[in-house]
Amino acid sequence: MIRKHVCPTCESEYELTSAHVPVRDKDSISCQICGTEIISWNGSRIWDAKLLKRGEPPSP
Ligand SMILES: [Zn+2]
Repeated sequence: MIRKHVCPTCESEYELTSAHVPVRDKDSISCQICGTEIISWNGSRIWDAKLLKRGEPPSP
């Protein structure tokens, strides 16, 4: 399963790909640009994120 996700903070675009693994996994992926958590999981479906378009990190 592939889905597109836009970071709510910096508007970077990611392509998220899910995969099923035989064991439960608990992890999360954060935005490479601003560090906002994009997705988290706890179970046998894990995710991988590919950066499609860089957004602008929020100014301090
Ligand atoms: Zn971001």
